[in-house]
Amino acid sequence: MTGYPFSDIEKKWQAFWEKNKTFRTTEDPAVPREKRKYVLDMFPYPSAAGLHVGHPEGYFATDIYCRYLRMKGFQVLHPMGFDSFGLPAENYAIKTGTHPRVSTEQNIVRFTSQIKALGFSYDWDRRISTCEPEYYRWTQWIFLRLWEKGLAYEAEVPINWCPSCLTGLANEEVKDGLCDRCGTPVTRRNLRQWILRITAYAERLLADLDMLAWSDSLKLMQTNWIGRSEGANVRFALEKGGGTIEVYTTRPDTLFGATYMVLAPEHPLVRKITTPAQKPAVEEYVKAASMKSDLERTELAKDKTGVFTGAFAVNPMNGKKIPVWISDYILISYGTGAIMAVPGHDERDFAFAKKFGLEIVQVVSRDGSLVELAQADPTDGIAVNSGEFNGLPTAEFKTRIIEWLEKKGIGSRAVNYKLRDWIFSRQRYWGEPIPLVHCPKDGTVAVPYDQLPLKLPEVKTVTPTGTGESPLAAIPEWVNTTCPKCGGPARRETNTMPQWAGSCWYYLRFLDPSNASAFAARDKIDYWMPIDLYVGGAEHAVLHLLYARFWHKFLFDEGLVNSPEPFMRLINQGMILGEGGVKMSKSLGNVINPDDIVRDYGADTMRLYEMFMGPLEVSKPWSTRGIAGAKRFLERVWRTSELPLTDDEPSEPLLRLLHKTIKKVSRDTDRLEFNTAISEMMIFLNEAAGLPALPKKLWTPFVLMLSPYAPHLAEELWEKLGNAPSISRQHWPEWNEALTAEELVEVVYQVNGKIRAKESLPAGMAEGELREKALGHDRIRELLSGKEVRKVIVVPNKLVNIVASL
Ligand SMILES: [Zn+2]
Ligand SMILES: [Zn+2]
Repeated sequence: MTGYPFSDIEKKWQAFWEKNKTFRTTEDPAVPREKRKYVLDMFPYPSAAGLHVGHPEGYFATDIYCRYLRMKGFQVLHPMGFDSFGLPAENYAIKTGTHPRVSTEQNIVRFTSQIKALGFSYDWDRRISTCEPEYYRWTQWIFLRLWEKGLAYEAEVPINWCPSCLTGLANEEVKDGLCDRCGTPVTRRNLRQWILRITAYAERLLADLDMLAWSDSLKLMQTNWIGRSEGANVRFALEKGGGTIEVYTTRPDTLFGATYMVLAPEHPLVRKITTPAQKPAVEEYVKAASMKSDLERTELAKDKTGVFTGAFAVNPMNGKKIPVWISDYILISYGTGAIMAVPGHDERDFAFAKKFGLEIVQVVSRDGSLVELAQADPTDGIAVNSGEFNGLPTAEFKTRIIEWLEKKGIGSRAVNYKLRDWIFSRQRYWGEPIPLVHCPKDGTVAVPYDQLPLKLPEVKTVTPTGTGESPLAAIPEWVNTTCPKCGGPARRETNTMPQWAGSCWYYLRFLDPSNASAFAARDKIDYWMPIDLYVGGAEHAVLHLLYARFWHKFLFDEGLVNSPEPFMRLINQGMILGEGGVKMSKSLGNVINPDDIVRDYGADTMRLYEMFMGPLEVSKPWSTRGIAGAKRFLERVWRTSELPLTDDEPSEPLLRLLHKTIKKVSRDTDRLEFNTAISEMMIFLNEAAGLPALPKKLWTPFVLMLSPYAPHLAEELWEKLGNAPSISRQHWPEWNEALTAEELVEVVYQVNGKIRAKESLPAGMAEGELREKALGHDRIRELLSGKEVRKVIVVPNKLVNIVASL
């Protein structure tokens, strides 16, 4: 008996698949729409650390599913590529002097060989990398289309600024006020930025979640991020100067309780309304606020701070003079950058009013009675202290007050979103250049489409300028150009696109990766899109998916794609934790390297193990004992394959077991319930392994079922059975429904030795179960009523005799 030579087997079949392009996919027009599937993995960022055991978990799942689908006669598109622009490569370049392209290419080579060593059935001819000019040509192309439609605009905005990376950071790159990349406290800085008007799509990004087969929790995360609310915009007149302050409120019914107003320190009115006496304090406060990040100003701030401007506004409901303050907990980027403060019914306003001695008025009451407010009482109820509206329930008051405001011309119904426009530029080298030119005569002019890609210039160093501008700004021969419109001297845009750009549309490029005249040919888009299944980590549950959906909707509006949504079904695989259930991390020294697992156990074992650990979507701890168990199973498969083969018919019980196994493995694989499918195959193997000789009619279907789960070993066994490769293109075994039915036996129930009832039950039922069945039978229960059961005798598959008191 020989050992299971997994290393030789895996290398042999990987070479075979590569040489024969076994998984090359074409657009065969004969395949009907319902027999085509596009199954996509979230493509990786090729980091210097190489592949992690968590990466392939999702890839294994989609790969099993794709191999299964192909065997079921589907045309399957299953590609892989690299999201290869980004800050880590740039930071590495700054530290070591290596060009980001060089380190990125090295990382891609390593990732590719690691991924190939795991035996995935990708169509490698479709590989893409977002930092290649042939790819980012089309990222630039889509950007220009957005810009032409007014969906990209320039603005001077305060951004998060990392004084160490010397670059602007998106909010999601700031964790607890620190730079997510280097840990330095983040400050604020005003910079000229390119911004994408994603808010124009807020309503559709929310509404269209309804058409997606995503988990409720994932949809909820997107919903909360978009943050739609309904309320009113209300204009408060200033006491002096004739101006107004506009606020957005979800509670216009509390207007009578507005006893002061607060502006964001950046609000343009601040400079105009501040009185001379208050000027020094206000200016000092504005300056301090400009250094803080949004997070420091809101969630991290324990104490509310603020300064009175000296100005007053007028409450439109009761004509009262109310003071106007500034405070950094109001963000200029949310709503109108100003609020009416209702301290009686908002905790934050209450704390602020208490601290600064401002008036607190109750305007909502649970039962209509007035109370001394010891804290903000935010509940719905009945209006009090609200003039002619007293006594109205909250919901009705809201409707009435909005009508009233609209009639008076001082307010209107409004919908607001938490979603902000997307700051779409970074002051970095290693990103897509924004293909625009600034001309003193013509303003901003697009680089003509036929001149794309606008390539990154070759540089020796990517060190930040430190001025806040991208390293590109320090290359005069690149920056200085001619205006495409007038031919006069002009300057190139030096900001580059954020890392998210390339992943916004990569799934479309896989359809047609070498097309030089379009991002993808329309017939290929129509052939494959939208994506049937998308699998990836939960860390992309919000931003990547929101950004990609936004671009896709834009392309749909432009008539360039066939569906309003790109990802119809989406699954987040659970995390793989270290042994003991803690997160894997370098500092804990519990990181598992896939290369070691492949070397010591083989890729098939790793795949089988990761899929056997538990349901795909839950997080689960790595276990060395568990992986050894998976290996023993495959070793046993190998030993079983060494049994003499026969053409004899298998026995009836074995045949029944086979068909039940096929049925269950098919159903579970179809539902992505891989762990239970593997258990079924293990049960089957237990029986097969004990046979003196192996009927081919039993073994062949088993090997076929095994092939998505242990593809290398299954190819080898397929060949051992005397077949020509590849098993990957064979048909999935069918089951005979009649053979999957449970075998039934008739069980006799006796009471004190007399036959009292009979029941048909599945054969092989356990003694305890039979006992329960008998005692629960209606007729028997009737007979036993008032009697004491002394003893129950069970003969499996035959009878239950109950000895009872007379
Ligand atoms: Zn930093
Ligand atoms: Zn010009």
